[in-house]
This record gives sequence, structure tokens and C-alpha cells, in this order.
Amino acid sequence: MQSSKTDIEIYMLAGEVFSTLTSDIQRTHYNNLKGSITLCWSEEKKFNAWAISETTLGGAPIHKIVITYEMARQIYRDVEAFYEFARDIRFLNLLKKMPNGTMPHPLIPKIFNKDDCINNMFFAAITWVYFHELGHLTQEHGFVREERNTSVAESLIQELESSTEKPLSGQASKISHATELAADCEATVMCLVELARHFTDEKLVGKNDDRQALIGCYYLIICSLACIFYRFNGGRVSLANSTPIGTHPDAIFRLECAATQFYEFFDMTKKVLGVTISRVDIISLTKQAADMGAMFWHFVHTDASTSITDIVIRGLLERREYKEYAKEIITTWDEISPKILKLRHFGASFGILQFGERYRQYVFETSEIMKLVKFQKLQTSRTHSNVLQQSE
Ligand SMILES: [Zn+2]
Repeated sequence: MQSSKTDIEIYMLAGEVFSTLTSDIQRTHYNNLKGSITLCWSEEKKFNAWAISETTLGGAPIHKIVITYEMARQIYRDVEAFYEFARDIRFLNLLKKMPNGTMPHPLIPKIFNKDDCINNMFFAAITWVYFHELGHLTQEHGFVREERNTSVAESLIQELESSTEKPLSGQASKISHATELAADCEATVMCLVELARHFTDEKLVGKNDDRQALIGCYYLIICSLACIFYRFNGGRVSLANSTPIGTHPDAIFRLECAATQFYEFFDMTKKVLGVTISRVDIISLTKQAADMGAMFWHFVHTDASTSITDIVIRGLLERREYKEYAKEIITTWDEISPKILKLRHFGASFGILQFGERYRQYVFETSEIMKLVKFQKLQTSRTHSNVLQQSE
């Protein structure tokens, strides 16, 4: 059995991943744009990461991503604990009491042994965080957040909410939340592209690869997301506010959005990747992974006082409690996204945050269906009042 890694070994492993990513991205994107991307480590003893842009308006991108050692260390330790949680007899017994089909897939992908599982989940999680920062930078969120009118921007976007400063509110908070979701979306798509690049390379996986490792890694990335979101949220499991407050959306809302982006993009690209899996299975695999991550956080890192039904994936259309909040976010994103799209340096078109027509109709209650539902409710209440009047 593998002994756990020392902190130094974790930093070295993360360092290798980040330096390979940074040199690849410099070569594939920044060289053409005559810009630069650099990665720095911080010794701050907090789970944190941030993105610094020194780009001048209209100029080449000059970007820096900063990661704390503590973030890499904590993600590794969480991943180790997650592996143990998925095999914990108390959790397995609890699952037996849940409805059939709650976790229809293996809790840990069968293709991976313990070392593979921990390493792949760790690589996937730190890569996702790196791409989230890159998402802020490629879209130059600093220009939008701070409404810079000068020709020089030195913006800094931090992931960890300050616990001492007064929380952000009003328009600044709305913009911050919307751009966090936009960076999440970029990260998800970049991460899946990177995953596909790695796990479809014949030199690495051989000629007749059945893509089970790719599917397994897809699952593990999503398992790690809840942990990342809750850690950046200072560990809080907060439930919906009707209006944005602070710098980051609730972990639950971020997880719902990211899960949808993951399964939609994976379903769209599966043929090209040579993956044979139905849309239904992709969705159930995604839900299970996100739920596993959320339950791990719930049982291992909290007092488990929140209801499990609140933290697991239900789909955005089943989240009435976020309807008012989503109205604010969508309206804000519609206002700022034209400017962001002009500033965006690179990235796949699917990496741009979008709110589908169905969700918009649900949130703003504009569809014919919603009108019909309202009409029926009205009719029902009239019938009821008629009955009441008649009986009186
Ligand atoms: Zn962010």
C-alpha cells in the first residue's frame, strides 16, 4: 500500500503539473498574442489562489496566476480523505438505507487502484483551479469588476473571501458573482479539453483504449469540485440569498451550474473522443460524482446539520430557492458579457457562460408553459373560491 505523501512531495507534484500547464499554455496561446503567463507560489497559510492581470486595454495579455502551497497541500489531503470516505463502512451502510439508484455507479472508478485514484483526482482538482484563474484572465475580469477607465490595469482577483472586510454588496457583488461563474465555465471546458488531450493520446493510452480511464477521470474531477467550492467559501454551507452578497456564489449554486456544463460538454464531444456512453448515463454519472463530493464535505467537514437534499444535485430547474438570485445574475451577465467577449483573448466558444432559454424562461417566468401554469392556478383558485362562496 502506498504511504501518504509528505507536504514537500505534494508541492513538488503540484509544481510539475503547473509548470507543464504554464509552458503549454504559453506556447499554444500567449506566444501568438505576444503576451505572457507566469505561475507563482505563495506561502500564505490559507487555501487561496488569485489571478493578476497587468494587461493594458487592447494590449497583449500579461498574466500571473498565484497558488498557495496550502491550497495544493489541502487538496491532496482532501483527496486522500475522500478515497477513505468512499470506502467507509458507515457511509456504505447509510447508502443502503437511501432509495435504490441513489448511487448507481461504482463509488470509485473500477479502472483505478488507490494510487491512480488519488493522483488523478489531485491532478484534476488542481488543474481545474488553475484553469479557473486562467478563465478570469482570458476574459480580463479585472476591467469589468473595477470599471477601469485608465489605460493601465493591474487587477487582482482573489478566490478566498475576506473574513475581515465588509462583504461586497450591490452591483459590485453581482458582477463578482457573475464573473466567478464565467471563470468556472471556462475552467470546466478547458479541463475537459485537457483531459481529452491526455486520455486520447495513443502514445499514452495505446491504440485500443476503451476510454474507461477518461470516463473515470471525468468522474473524479467532478467529485473534487464540491470540496474546492466549499473550501473557497471558507467551508460554509450557506443556502440561497435572494440577492448576491460577497464575492462568490454559494457552493451549491456553483456546483449545480458546473454539473450542467460538465455533462453538456461531455455529451457534445463524446463521439469525437470515441466514448460510448448514453446521455442518460453521463447525467447520472455527473450527478453521482457531484453528490459524492458534496456528501464527503457534509459528513467529514461539517456538523452535518444541513439537509442532504439541499446539498445534492437537483438540477437548476428544481432550485426555486435560487430563482430570485438567478434573475440578478443573468441580468448582470447580459449587461457585462458583451464587453467581456470583446476583451476575451482566447478559449473555446463553449467556455463562455450561457444561460439556456429554458432556464431563462423558468427564472423570468416568461414561457407559454409558465403562463399556462399561472392561468391554471388562477382557475383553480377561482374554482375554490366559487366552492367556498357556494358553501357559505
Ligand atoms: Zn474566481
